[in-house]
Amino acid sequence: MVTSVFEDAKQRLEYLGNLSEVRPEVIELMKHPSASKIASLPVRMDDGSTRYFPAYRCRYNDILGPGKGGIRFHPNTDLDEVQALALWMTVKCALVGLPFGGAKGGVEIDPKAHSQMEIERVSRAYIRAMNGFIGPDTDIPAPDVYTNARIMGWMRDEYEAIHQIKAPGVITGKPTALEGSEGREQATGLGAFFCLDKLIKQIPSLGESPRVAIQGFGNAAYHMAHALKKKGYNIVALSDSKGAIYSEEGFHVDSIWAEKQQSKSLKAIYCEGSVCESVPHKAMENDEIFGLDVDILILAALENSVTEENVEDIKAKVIVEVANGPVSLAAEKILDEKGVVILPDVLANAGGVVVSYFEWAQNKSALYWTLTEVLERLQQRMEDSFDEVWRIHQNHCHTLRQAAYKKALNRLEDALIAQGTKDYFAHSQHAEPSS
Ligand code: NAD
Repeated sequence: MVTSVFEDAKQRLEYLGNLSEVRPEVIELMKHPSASKIASLPVRMDDGSTRYFPAYRCRYNDILGPGKGGIRFHPNTDLDEVQALALWMTVKCALVGLPFGGAKGGVEIDPKAHSQMEIERVSRAYIRAMNGFIGPDTDIPAPDVYTNARIMGWMRDEYEAIHQIKAPGVITGKPTALEGSEGREQATGLGAFFCLDKLIKQIPSLGESPRVAIQGFGNAAYHMAHALKKKGYNIVALSDSKGAIYSEEGFHVDSIWAEKQQSKSLKAIYCEGSVCESVPHKAMENDEIFGLDVDILILAALENSVTEENVEDIKAKVIVEVANGPVSLAAEKILDEKGVVILPDVLANAGGVVVSYFEWAQNKSALYWTLTEVLERLQQRMEDSFDEVWRIHQNHCHTLRQAAYKKALNRLEDALIAQGTKDYFAHSQHAEPSS
């Protein structure tokens, strides 16, 4: 049973840091979030009453650049979760070579229980509460679970109203009409696809058309599923927060996604034009997806979906972590013994922050790229990152997560050494002559 996501994240960091043989100072640095802010957001409800929503932001570490990380709206979020997510953002940005540190934010709210006008007021209240904490050169938020481009647009607008300037780079994942980047919406799913497709080439036993189950059929999962389907993978199971569907024949994910956008429910259908029909399938509880006999299990919902309690059910040979921290540390050790290959979150879902970086760079330069340019650069960055992680894995590390952390922690270590470590200061009592 995992009680603190942040403790689990720190234990994993320590374990992987020791295996990476980085200096102890790096592990110590990464165990201490630099600053966190907790606020209560007073928000006027549509009926005239006022409700107070707990809100959080954690700027974890900025040695490599300003903080970067999404904001989630979820009833179960808290500071512990936000800190864990901010730690992982720090590792992720370091891994894929971005000039960012890690950060994360959250509001404790069930967005499904509120009108869009209430959500707009919550979004604006968040920016007012975090004023002075976030900014285009200090900490740059983005969307996460149950937040989207429209919300980012409201947040940018509120920031600009407070500061009386135009500052598109204060937030990423904005609508393209409000200086968002082309390709941001599909970036996380496509990034995961680019990595998985490279990984599968290393495991020829999975064949030409691996069978895939996807937990958490939301935005990231859909874009990944769409690309996988086009490449010939067979998507046999999908789940969301309310249930799951299974078909040995495989699903037409575009039809199911279009329907989910409208009715908000997961329906096993196939559509040609506007004519849709139900397809044969088995309806299941959402947790049943873990035990399916598939080749690849994609985890795209929330952290700690696979723990010691259900890990023995897993039959997949490959797990892709599109969500952050979906496999607990204890469960990972068991999966590792069983020979399950895990494509780790810090690599698999980095496509989102890569295109957020592109968006921020476009906002700063006021030069905007086409969709083709964005996706080519995304593919290049993700494939290069995968190749490097794979190379480290082959030469030094047992798992892909160990290799990913080794690469990320080495980059943080280089920055730390450049600032001077104990070794440097202990051996330099006198100032160096200037050249
Ligand atoms: P989303 O809100 O669009 O989708 C999440 C999906 O998970 C929803 O369909 C929801 O119904 C489902 N879900 C929730 N609880 C579930 C449960 N118990 N069982 C099965 N399904 C459940 O969010 P998203 O943007 O697709 O993000 C998904 C995950 O990817 C999150 O963990 C997020 O932190 C991570 N992520 C997202 C991005 C991004 O850019 N969107 C980037 C990096 C990581």
